[in-house]
Amino acid sequence: MDFDITFTPEQERFRARVRSWLDAHAPKDFPDLADPVLLTEADYLKQRRLGRELGDEGWLYPTYPREYGGGGLSPPEALVIEQELDRLGFTLPPYYDSGGKLGAASIMVWGAEEQKARFLPPILKGRVRTWQLLTEPEAGSDLANVKTTAIRDGDAYLVNGQKIFVGSAHGADQSWMIVNTDPGGRRHQNLSWFIVPMDLPGVSWAPMDLLFAGNERGAASGLKQTVYFDNVRLPAFNLIGGENNGWKVAGTHLELEHGLMQTSLGRNQLMERVFRLCKERLRRGRPLASNPRTRDLLADMHVDAQIGRLFHLRNYWLQSTGRPISYEGPQAYLHMKRAALRTSKALHKILGPYALTTDPHWRLEDGHLETQQRGSIVAQHPGGTVEIQKVIMARALGVGRAAAGKPDGQG
Ligand SMILES: Cc1cc2nc3c(=O)[nH]c(=O)nc-3n(C[C@H](O)[C@H](O)[C@H](O)COP(=O)(O)OP(=O)(O)OC[C@H]3O[C@@H](n4cnc5c(N)ncnc54)[C@H](O)[C@@H]3O)c2cc1C
Repeated sequence: MDFDITFTPEQERFRARVRSWLDAHAPKDFPDLADPVLLTEADYLKQRRLGRELGDEGWLYPTYPREYGGGGLSPPEALVIEQELDRLGFTLPPYYDSGGKLGAASIMVWGAEEQKARFLPPILKGRVRTWQLLTEPEAGSDLANVKTTAIRDGDAYLVNGQKIFVGSAHGADQSWMIVNTDPGGRRHQNLSWFIVPMDLPGVSWAPMDLLFAGNERGAASGLKQTVYFDNVRLPAFNLIGGENNGWKVAGTHLELEHGLMQTSLGRNQLMERVFRLCKERLRRGRPLASNPRTRDLLADMHVDAQIGRLFHLRNYWLQSTGRPISYEGPQAYLHMKRAALRTSKALHKILGPYALTTDPHWRLEDGHLETQQRGSIVAQHPGGTVEIQKVIMARALGVGRAAAGKPDGQG
């Protein structure tokens, strides 16, 4: 059975057009960074320029309606664009824009017409970059416990509080944020979502010094921030989905975040690196892969990678054909997170302490393998932890608590 996606001749002609467009527009000699924290401002600006140019073509958010700045394209055409960017080492969007991805989808579902017209085109055309602000010191897995308040004051809301583990390096133009709009109100019925311009007086942020905040593809983030809100006056127009209706909006946001945002249908660059290394690197005059134990571990890694690819392929099919989805997103995400840990253990067994070093003399594959060792631990948290993925799956499969079906846990 062939599990690969096949494209029609027309879609292949579209691919040729995208490829030649990218050859002309994509930045040349872009660095293949192990750690996205190392992305320079100059290279970040190149990513943003590519994003704007893709946006002008309608290729940045290809499947969104043209009237809001998308491309009005089909899921296979969007996949073609993603694959062609992947060939050059870029993602879609070519910069970290998780608030744009999740915020735009949520605004499409919950925004009023005039809000869609105002907020969607800048995101979909790459004019702004958006962070997603959910987590707080007392609200991680328990998202409904957010303490940042937004209290109505005339034609605005007064916002106070802080968000942690959010954002990325190189700042953002706006954020997509969940807050508490009724501090004395009932749990789940006191939450609301806003688009927040980051240049409003009283908004500030500072980087967090963490073990690692990106992933093998460098797309996750690059650096996490704490964002502070000190008496910020936020226009009431920016409230999306209605006051105290935020838990319903969260359902849209979280369903996507729990494993449906990471398509992962491109190349598995980590596997490519590991297999190349084991074939080429010699130990006592023989390639690493000549050791039967190493071959055993490589086979396990390959199986894990293929299972992950097939989960994502199935989810892509479910989404693009409009079929119902319940446990499949968290299932793929759970597998990704666990497989990352298994892979890092296997790499440690194959390479020993070299897998852990950043010493330029010893570091392997330009530091990507060392980065994977740190990244696999950190990857257990974003988008909801491993335990939270299991909780959601249990509910979707009908073996959870009585509150089955309610979204919980986030990232
Ligand atoms: C790299 C990275 C990127 C991130 N990006 C963002 C971002 O862009 N925006 C954003 O808002 N947040 C982001 N986060 C935050 C992320 O969403 C939270 O870390 C995550 O939701 C877990 O929350 P917490 O860290 O407060 O852990 P806690 O919720 O305190 O959990 C601690 C431990 O308890 C377990 N646990 C909690 N509840 C249960 C339960 N009901 N059943 C069983 N076990 C449970 C958890 O699984 C975990 O092991 C990011 C985090 C990381 C590490």
